[in-house]
Amino acid sequence: MKQYDAVLVGAGFAGAVCARELAERGGKRVLVLERRDHIGGNAFDRTDDAGVLIHQYGPHIFHTNDRRVYDYLSRFTAWRDYQHRVIANLPDERAGGRMTFPVPFNLTSLETAYGPEEGKRLGEKLLAAYGPERKVTILELRQNSDPEISALADYVYEHVFVHYTMKQWGQRPEDIDPNTTARVPVFLSRDDRYFQDAYQGMPLEGYTALFQRLLDHPNIEVRLGVDALSLLKVEGETVTFDGVPFSGTVVYTGQADELFAFRFGPLPYRTLDFAFETLPRDDFQGYGTVNYTVDEPYTRITEFKHLTGQVKPGLTTIVKEYSRAYTGAEGEIPYYAIINEDNNALYARYKAEADKCPNLHLLGRLAEYKYYNMDAIVARALELSDQLLG
Ligand code: FAD
Ligand code: UDP
Repeated sequence: MKQYDAVLVGAGFAGAVCARELAERGGKRVLVLERRDHIGGNAFDRTDDAGVLIHQYGPHIFHTNDRRVYDYLSRFTAWRDYQHRVIANLPDERAGGRMTFPVPFNLTSLETAYGPEEGKRLGEKLLAAYGPERKVTILELRQNSDPEISALADYVYEHVFVHYTMKQWGQRPEDIDPNTTARVPVFLSRDDRYFQDAYQGMPLEGYTALFQRLLDHPNIEVRLGVDALSLLKVEGETVTFDGVPFSGTVVYTGQADELFAFRFGPLPYRTLDFAFETLPRDDFQGYGTVNYTVDEPYTRITEFKHLTGQVKPGLTTIVKEYSRAYTGAEGEIPYYAIINEDNNALYARYKAEADKCPNLHLLGRLAEYKYYNMDAIVARALELSDQLLG
């Protein structure tokens, strides 16, 4: 192991950004170990058998307010301007058919759900109560004591949040981390975009191409199909690599519990099953993502061509997402940490073990047991690199 200054476990955003920084800015010789047979982690995309560019681990839309992150990634990709719009598709009790309205639930959604006149009147009432362009979480809206606003909050809770959240988390909105439903607030606006960040878009040639450039550096060696835990062991204050103590930097972006052989018990996660379908038509749903907020066993359907802008006459690929408890079975991927007091306390025990080892750093959505978007991970990776390079 003498020839490497740093070992990075995982080639997702956390590992790849850190690898690049240590290699380029720090002149370190970096080894990246990735268990999967590809780079990119959960942001990996590829062309499917029909020739459609798909996101293998679910839809990834880049958005950030962080100028440093945007500028940094712009070194490795050009962008396709894309503003993500999501609609809810749900039964319409009035007509016996179905209705659709923008998500986050906004002033337009209100008029669809209640009819133009009543919707407008209620919208004005909300604006008077909270102010224009305000984002109000569903849990906050449900606290409102005005009977009409309270009835409206119940409507949104029932038609947008409770069933979707039960599908996604197996729990009700009030029983999960409030920051999770706060990601999709009620928005007192006509802006029907899913995100309002200053920088939004899709990597012009896809995420995998971005990662190829990120990792393309003479000081970086990437080994795919290698489980780092077959080589790397943490024993008290020491990390060994292939049985030999390693004093270089180790950045670990996998699961914290797995690193310590689950010694305090497994950390709970949700996993997803993705059902991809290629259909013989130009366009399936007119939107990047449609959320099934009340019925259907899946949470949402994404049609990739709308995200990527790919022109592919006569063929389109969609994916349905089914969420369930992660069991740790072979091949399952832990996509979402289940953030609550007990689980955070369990995570803290693993983190304390890692902290005993001065050259070991836990970084990323898995290793930090957090609900991070891509931009937050890139920011974290840049911060850790700053710290390591002093
Ligand atoms: P990962 O991408 O999970 O990478 C970790 C890597 O480590 C993996 O490749 C894994 O195989 C590897 N690894 C783990 N253990 C080992 C080991 N022992 N040995 C070797 N390798 C190992 N974010 C957004 O900003 N916008 C979105 O639209 C968005 N959509 C999402 C949709 C879904 C369905 C999901 C699940 C996430 C979404 N995200 C989105 C979040 C985004 O995926 C994460 O922020 C990002 O992928 C985190 O990067 P990471 O490097 O921390 O983790
Ligand atoms: N959510 C919901 N209905 C929706 C959209 C979101 O109830 O139509 C809730 C649900 O609990 C979900 C959370 O808000 O898990 C966050 O949604 P987001 O779209 O940010 O989830 P992600 O894309 O990360 O899966």
